[in-house]
Amino acid sequence: MRVDVLTIFPEYLAPLDLSLVGKARSAGILDVRVHDLRDWTLDRHRTVDDTPFGGGAGMVMRPDVWGRALDEVLGLERVVDASAASVDPVAAPARLLIPTPSGTPLDQRTAEALARESHLVIACGRYEGIDARVAEHYRRVADEHESVSVSEFSLGDYVLNGGEVAALVLIEAVARLLPGVVGNPRSLDEESHGSSGLLEYGVYTKPPTWRGLDVPEVLLSGHHARIERWRRDEALRRTAERRPEILERADPGAFDPHDHDLLSSWGWTTGPGGPRRPGEADQGSSAG
Ligand code: SAM
Repeated sequence: MRVDVLTIFPEYLAPLDLSLVGKARSAGILDVRVHDLRDWTLDRHRTVDDTPFGGGAGMVMRPDVWGRALDEVLGLERVVDASAASVDPVAAPARLLIPTPSGTPLDQRTAEALARESHLVIACGRYEGIDARVAEHYRRVADEHESVSVSEFSLGDYVLNGGEVAALVLIEAVARLLPGVVGNPRSLDEESHGSSGLLEYGVYTKPPTWRGLDVPEVLLSGHHARIERWRRDEALRRTAERRPEILERADPGAFDPHDHDLLSSWGWTTGPGGPRRPGEADQGSSAG
């Protein structure tokens, strides 16, 4: 997979040389290229921002600078040149990703979908963000050229100073899903937000007793089936306690009779529409 990151702080992306992502780059699984947006400025001061139309605080990133940078990195110059004859045969499809607090929240399903792409381009904003016409323009381009698509994504309901942290998060979440990056691919499946749709059970290692706290006995039993069941029960309990809305969204067919009994013992109801937390059963069935 190829990932291009455009930023005014290329050094911010230095952690991409470390750990599993760094190894994936060395192994040639991931080709990350970090670009300084200022390389596409035309003035002596390498200006990327200006005052907002309509007044107000802060500065806004200029669309003309972003446009030159993105056309080049997305390979659109080639597409436009070739369009007179036919579609550019060498342009690989690229997904333009724009981090912004007003974007769609990033989740594991999105990371999985992005891991199937061949080329991601991440446009890191600063100041009050990027002129709104940039996303609008590339959406129009995407309507015309199958080789481009555009997504605005958010890390969560808070505001960061810039998109670089969001780029780091996105690259790490996607890179670890690429074949060969995580040593044992089974560990991906058993994690929180994996195929079970549940949060992961608690994990333990040596020593078996630490500061008066014992590892759950079943984990020392060597009894594979009991351990599996305990882990499933713990995953259900954690999800019900910490993120009940995830449990309510899960595939109703994913619960076995033991899950139903356990959920009922916590006051949950388990009808054809899936589990409903205590007090929400009526709401759930009327919605269905
Ligand atoms: N004025 C913008 C607003 O209120 O929506 C916030 C701009 S923020 C200070 C500057 C940049 O940080 C954004 O353009 C974006 O790249 C990044 N950013 C800030 N919060 C983010 C979040 N929750 N998710 C993703 N990117 C974020």
